[in-house]
Amino acid sequence: MKIRNKRADLMVLPALCGLAISLYAAGYIGGKFIEFRSLRIQAEAIVDTVHDYLQGHIGPGLKIPVPEVQGTVLRTIEIPGSESLRADLRSVLVLDDRGRIAAPGGSPARDAFEFSSAMDRATFERAIRTGTTQYNRVAPERPGEFRTVFYAPLFSIGNLIGVIRLDVDQTADALMLSSAMQSRRLMTRLLGIVGVVITLLMFWRYIKERWTAEEEIRFLAMHDVLTKLANRAQFKLRLERALERAFRTGTKIAVIGIDVDNFKDINDTLGHPVGDRILKATAERILSVSGPKATVARLSGDEFAVLIEDYENETALRKAAARFLRSASIAHEIDGNEVVTSISVGIALAPADGSTVEGLMKNADLALYRAKADGRNTIRFFTSDLDLELRRKRLVEDELRRDLGSDRFNVHYQPQYDLRSGALVGYEALARWTNPKLGVVSPTVFIPAAESCGLITPLCEWLLLNACKTAKEWPATTKLAVNISAAQFRAGDVADIIERGLRWSRLAPDRLEIEITETVLLQNTEIALATLNRLRALGVSIALDDFGTGYSSLSYLSRFPIDKIKIDRSFIQQLAEERKTAAIVKAIIDLGEALQLEIIAEGVETPDQAALLRTMGCHQAQGYLFGVPKPTTDIPVPEIIRQQDALRKAAI
Ligand code: C2E
Ligand code: CA
Ligand code: CA
Repeated sequence: MKIRNKRADLMVLPALCGLAISLYAAGYIGGKFIEFRSLRIQAEAIVDTVHDYLQGHIGPGLKIPVPEVQGTVLRTIEIPGSESLRADLRSVLVLDDRGRIAAPGGSPARDAFEFSSAMDRATFERAIRTGTTQYNRVAPERPGEFRTVFYAPLFSIGNLIGVIRLDVDQTADALMLSSAMQSRRLMTRLLGIVGVVITLLMFWRYIKERWTAEEEIRFLAMHDVLTKLANRAQFKLRLERALERAFRTGTKIAVIGIDVDNFKDINDTLGHPVGDRILKATAERILSVSGPKATVARLSGDEFAVLIEDYENETALRKAAARFLRSASIAHEIDGNEVVTSISVGIALAPADGSTVEGLMKNADLALYRAKADGRNTIRFFTSDLDLELRRKRLVEDELRRDLGSDRFNVHYQPQYDLRSGALVGYEALARWTNPKLGVVSPTVFIPAAESCGLITPLCEWLLLNACKTAKEWPATTKLAVNISAAQFRAGDVADIIERGLRWSRLAPDRLEIEITETVLLQNTEIALATLNRLRALGVSIALDDFGTGYSSLSYLSRFPIDKIKIDRSFIQQLAEERKTAAIVKAIIDLGEALQLEIIAEGVETPDQAALLRTMGCHQAQGYLFGVPKPTTDIPVPEIIRQQDALRKAAI
């Protein structure tokens, strides 16, 4: 929608009013003009008659044939066939060309005529000069009077000898005409009024429309369309004002950042319309428990914020935040199904945690980040170490960008063994990064960092090619396992990258195994399925990593082309101590057996764990007991054989 300025709007009113008034005036003036014109035509007829008569009968030296034509006031002039003229004539005079009154009968008694006004004289002179009839209106002496003075030139043998001055009084005619014109004038007046009224009505409608449109635009500019809550712009504005007030009065302010947990999963699995409904419901719930003084806003996607002014103390804030958490965790009824959601909450306080809009919002965000990292569905207040954490994260990203492709990145390999035969099955490739500023960085730190700054694809490509080239030098029976993160799957070109890596390294596809987590299967199910099927068709095998820690939905195992289950090391660590854990591990092994999947245990550190797993029927094992991850140069073939012997001794 286009927004024009208000001044331009207001200019339209006078313009339209002016138009209506002009129309009205044109009607009025037009009426008057017609009135005057008809009176003049009538008067001219009189003048012509008198003139023609006198001109026809005038003798030389201005001998006037009619004796009555001699005074200043003369009402009777006998003109054959023009009886009615009398009433209209106030005076008839004959003046010579110098303006002297001509006496009847041609006697020399000639007085200078006293013109009634300068205009009167000018009209006379004009008539003499031009030799044509001239006239002018006489200023009315009483209301409604309508008089015109005519000067009609008289000629004798082609020479102008004087003029007849006729004072024509048309007051009666004008009155008659005026009353005849009355209805017409009324009509024009009415039309004019209707014009003005219509104009005003149109203008009013226009202005009202404009104002509503502008109000709508203002609303849209300041509100979120979906939830009708304040938007980021309005939230910032309110926070700014609140900060100003707080500065003057010393009150305290809290900015509460709220984020719907796993909202992406909700959107991906249930679809956007359901996602929208959940966002709307969440907005309503937050609003309903946030109190009348709070400002609730939707900042973006699944991100909300609440501004609380003048709160009592931190306990009160915590209680308010807990109300948000509780209200958000009530199940949503969607198409007969219950969808349970949760939110995470981060709180920053002013002036303690910041005194600017940006600072407070950033710190509330950091606290929210912490709440998410601490397992979601929880509340965190901002602390200064969060800021440090963010800075470190930035540093990691910057350094990562710089080091990518350099020899500061390399790959370590950790062996995997067959628990039954003691044979080496293969190695899992694990990325390593050593940075001069940061030291040795764990992949649990730099892999997510690469994901969040968009470097995961090049990193993955580099790692895969490197590992494949290394594996190509191993004995043909030794397999290579490579981790592929969910974000790489989201990037969409995993299959291409893997295919390229295999082609360039010329490693046989059936020697490559990729390790994925359940998150991959949860997100973009269709794309994931297609990618996995394509890899499977190539001959690449697929292992489900960290099994038991996620949803461990059994349906995944039948729906997706999975070859191997990798029991998470958290189970293995408690295997010897907790009977329940042992029962779970046994159940996983039996399940894998039943589905004809390979089963590997990761994080095996003690011979006890290895022995227990073997008796439970676990096929393979990986862990410090069998070998820590080492750079490839550390694993010559004789070493592998030595490790195999060590295993046999340990296991038997
Ligand atoms: P993961 O896939 O579960 O890898 C196994 C992790 O357990 C490795 O940690 C390994 O060093 C460690 N580990 C091996 N044996 C033992 C043991 O006996 N006890 C204990 N406590 N730990 C053991 P690492 O190398 O720090 O890797 C951590 C995670 O980082 C990996 O977990 C994997 O998810 C990810 N990662 C590592 N390299 C890559 C990679 O190249 N690409 C991707 N996408 N992720 C990687
Ligand atoms: Ca792994
Ligand atoms: Ca794992």
